[in-house]
Formats: sequence, structure tokens, C-alpha cells
Amino acid sequence: MQTEAPLLDVRDLAKRFQMDGGWGRARRELRAVDGISFQVRRGQTLALVGESGCGKSTVANLVMQLLPPSEGEVRVAGEAVDARSSAALRRVWRQMQMVFQDPAASLHPRMRALDIVAEPLRNYGLGDRAGRERQARELLERVGLPVAMQSRYPHEFSGGQKQRLGIARALALSPALIVADEPVSALDVSVQAQVLNLLRDLQRERGLAYLFVSHDLGVVEYIADEVAVMYLGVIVERAPRQAFFARPLHPYAEALLASVPAIDPRRRRQHVLLEGDVPSAAALPGGCRFRTRCPLAHARCAAEEPALREIEPAHFVACHAVAGSPASDSTAPQP
Ligand code: SF4
Repeated sequence: MQTEAPLLDVRDLAKRFQMDGGWGRARRELRAVDGISFQVRRGQTLALVGESGCGKSTVANLVMQLLPPSEGEVRVAGEAVDARSSAALRRVWRQMQMVFQDPAASLHPRMRALDIVAEPLRNYGLGDRAGRERQARELLERVGLPVAMQSRYPHEFSGGQKQRLGIARALALSPALIVADEPVSALDVSVQAQVLNLLRDLQRERGLAYLFVSHDLGVVEYIADEVAVMYLGVIVERAPRQAFFARPLHPYAEALLASVPAIDPRRRRQHVLLEGDVPSAAALPGGCRFRTRCPLAHARCAAEEPALREIEPAHFVACHAVAGSPASDSTAPQP
């Protein structure tokens, strides 16, 4: 049994945006993230997955305090993050750093690679110039950018090299946690594999934890220890990787997995067709927010939003129809 306190502890996190309703219409509220909780332990990877618009990238930005939450709390190494205090934010950003989907947009175009990696050390007043450069050089070499490349500008690197540069910069302050928002989705498949291997090696060497945001279940199966599936701002299933990929329990998670093409015929799943479009987060259906597309929807689903419940050890599902759920009723169809 794990007793160590989580490195990242997210409780009831929510983000709402107020939207202009248009000419003569009332303003509307978009519930991008709607009260989610999860933990990430040291040296572990939690993958947040879901279709675009489900709120997973918003969660990454909320955790990093790049967006102020509407509600909820983020604790890092036991300390609640107070986003109003710049001193508290500086402490937190020493412990967690971000790797972005588009590394080019996050790298200063007029700085050389060596200076980009040394910059966080300078911002935190760590070491002297020679020491910072030595550390930056070692980090760049570790991520696969040798000395000959280190005086280049970002535009002189390929996509994969830019992401390696982004990873080196994220590691400069020796954080315990990396929040990685779709870090390989813009890369070619062969380059994706190299960057994923690099992330796994760095995790082993440094005991890093990752909050890994991705829409790609193949990538998630490779990198994650635990998987959390999001749908319209909430987590609908959370489970250890093996349990999740062996037997997803939520109808949405099942459909997501069934939609992944498998070369190995033993791994092909019966295709579950999802009906209808994803509803707008500004006009959520009442009850279960997946009910407009769910093949198992029944009367209770419209009346009551299912809570996330532990169905099997460490396997949580939010669905009235899943057997074993204390919320299941005798009339609910079983998947
Ligand atoms: S609660 Fe109902 S609508 Fe929602 S996923 Fe379960 S069966 Fe489908």
C-alpha cells in the first residue's frame, strides 16, 4: 500500500469562462473544467486523455497556475499553491515545469539554445555564469543536442530537436514534476518514439513525475502508470494503465479505445459507434453529460449525474450502468 503523500494533489479544480451570449442574449457560462480531483506520485506518470475540447489542456494550465482556477486547490509537495503570491509561484515553479505542444512558440526566437536552457537558472539567481553554462551544456547533451548545435537559434532546429530543447529548459531547475501538454502530437511518428523514450529515460534517471496530457491512446499506453479519461470537463474513468487497457469500464472510454486502429488482430476491439456530436461545454446536458452519445443511456442518466466511484481497487468510474457501482440500480442495463 502506498502511504507517501502525493507530489501533486488536485482537489475539486474548476474553471469557468463567461461568454458573451451575442446580440440581445444573456451571457453564458462555459464550464471548461468542472470539479476534478487527482494525484500524481513521485516518479509516476498520470496521463489525462480525451477528445479535443474535453478540458485536459485547461487542467495542465490550471495546475501550472498559468490560468487562475475558479474553484479548487492545487497542492505541490504538501503545500497549497497561492497564485496571488509571486514568491509562492516561484517556489512552485522550481518544483514543476511545463513542456508544451508547440515548442517553437515557447522558445525565444532570438536566443541561442545554450542561453535558453541557462535562462531559468539566471532568473532564479542560481550559480555563476560559467556554472550555468556548464549545466545548460550538460543538459543539452543529455537530451541529444551536442555542443555543435548549442549556439543555434530555435528556427535552426527540426521539430523533434526543438522539443528536446524545450525538455532541456524544463529540466534546468531540476523540477520533481513535468506537466507535458501533448508533447509529441506535433511530431512525426518515428520522432515521437525517440522523444517518448527520452522522457522515460529521464524519468528513471531523475525520479521525475509527469502529468501527461494526450489525445493519443497509443502514446498513453506506452508512457502512463495511471490513466484518467476526461469528458466535457470531468473525469469519467481513472485506473492503473494495465487495468484500463485490459478492461475499460466507462462506455466513453470503451468507445475511445475501440476507435484506435490495431495491427495485431488479437487486440482489435469491436467498434463502438458514438452517436451525435460532443455537446458544448456552455450548454451541458443535465444528468450524465455523456448521455446524448451513450448507447447505454437510460432514464436515470438524465436525472442524476453519476459520481466517480471505486468499482475495483484503484479503478474509478462515473457511470450508473457499471456493475459493482453502489450507484447502479437494478433496472440499469449492464455493459
Ligand atoms: S451514466 Fe448512463 S449515460 Fe452516462 S455513461 Fe453511464 S450509462 Fe451512459
